[in-house]
Amino acid sequence: MTIEQSLVTKHPQINQLISQEPIFWQNPDYGQRAELPFSKADIFDAVARWERFAPYLERVFPETASMDGVIESPLIELDQMKAQWNADHRQSLAGKLYLKADNELPISGSIKSRGGIYEVLKFAEEVAMANTDLAYMDDYSILATDQYKQLFAHYGIAVASTGNLALSVGIMAATFGFKTTVYMSHDAKQWKKDKLRANGVTVMEYQTNFSEVVSIARTAAQKDPTIHFIDDEGSTDLFLGYSVAAVRLQEQLKQHHIKVDRTHPVLVYLPAGVGGSPSGVTFGLKTIIGPYIHAVFCEPTHVPSVTLGMMTGLNNKISVYDIGLDGLTAADGLAVGRPSRLAGKVMRTLLFGCATFEDPTIYRYVTQLTDTQGITVEPSAAAGFTAIEPLIGHVPAFNSANATHIVWATGGSMMPESERQVNYAKGKALLENE
Ligand SMILES: *Cc1c(COP(=O)(O)O)cnc(C)c1O
Repeated sequence: MTIEQSLVTKHPQINQLISQEPIFWQNPDYGQRAELPFSKADIFDAVARWERFAPYLERVFPETASMDGVIESPLIELDQMKAQWNADHRQSLAGKLYLKADNELPISGSIKSRGGIYEVLKFAEEVAMANTDLAYMDDYSILATDQYKQLFAHYGIAVASTGNLALSVGIMAATFGFKTTVYMSHDAKQWKKDKLRANGVTVMEYQTNFSEVVSIARTAAQKDPTIHFIDDEGSTDLFLGYSVAAVRLQEQLKQHHIKVDRTHPVLVYLPAGVGGSPSGVTFGLKTIIGPYIHAVFCEPTHVPSVTLGMMTGLNNKISVYDIGLDGLTAADGLAVGRPSRLAGKVMRTLLFGCATFEDPTIYRYVTQLTDTQGITVEPSAAAGFTAIEPLIGHVPAFNSANATHIVWATGGSMMPESERQVNYAKGKALLENE
């Protein structure tokens, strides 16, 4: 244990984090005024870039054609899952329950299709603009031609990942023709590595944790000026790519006739690893939708990195290893012991709070979501369900019939059938033993 006793005295919930008890931490700085490093204009700059690339995406990924090259997921009402939730909990959920189904996003089958792909698009645009006569108003499907592929082959993209970021960045970058290298931590699933190799991506494997692998990858990438390193621990481009989700969700809320105002709160539950994707989304939600949409991050009790960083205000200066935790979890997408440099800072006044959960809980929700709604997600992506009870327990006003609860399902549709069956069986066994 390497932390100061005074820190624990000031933030007694650290004791519960140390003993791996599930907690709910309510952010005392929520809603205060603060200078933010980004604005609404930055979100719309990203929106416009996605639009410029839509004709390209439609061409190279035919599965996006039905959406005209827009990469977006549906908002799905979970009636039967809500009934199940109510049967299992002492307190029933008065509001509506929805799933933001990023598990269905094209290309990586995860939320990483937002930030990861966006950062690759931005780099490709920069390279193309610097070397050719590409104009902003051009039809970007021209970027799929051999002339551009040959240009992109002179550049490289590198990224470190526990799995899904590598899938989205790797597939996108290799499609452009960039020399692509992904650095995988010990958490990464074999099928993700196989899929990347099949797409022509160089996969480097390390038997160590994500934070160490990022540093290895960063050092390697810095040696070659033609390589663009995608830094999951602090990239602005990743962050803004994720933020675009809010513009899309605003429209979906309207389509579903979901009101957002003082008496109609919307609660959004987001799983957090390094904290980049949930923070980018939350920044977008607060900027685009306003004060009555509230975000809660969900983390494993063994890896509460963003919770610890925000609670102490130390952000990336503290890791879960500093309080003696092992950083191990079945939620591979959340297996990040040290949070992003950016997330906690931007979230200081924007995040409502954090909840931590024990791993078995997410397997139960994976199985129940399949049984009740026929939807399959990966274990990390079910984490949002774990935070509903602690949130309404702390803030009874949020358990109103006028409230809407949105669980952000962050990944899963690319999982091989064998993986689905193993996850489902684990949840089933847990449910049957209750
Ligand atoms: C990456 C990921 C997360 C968390 O995103 P961070 O940016 O690491 O906080 C959550 N769920 C899944 C499935 C992921 O792949």
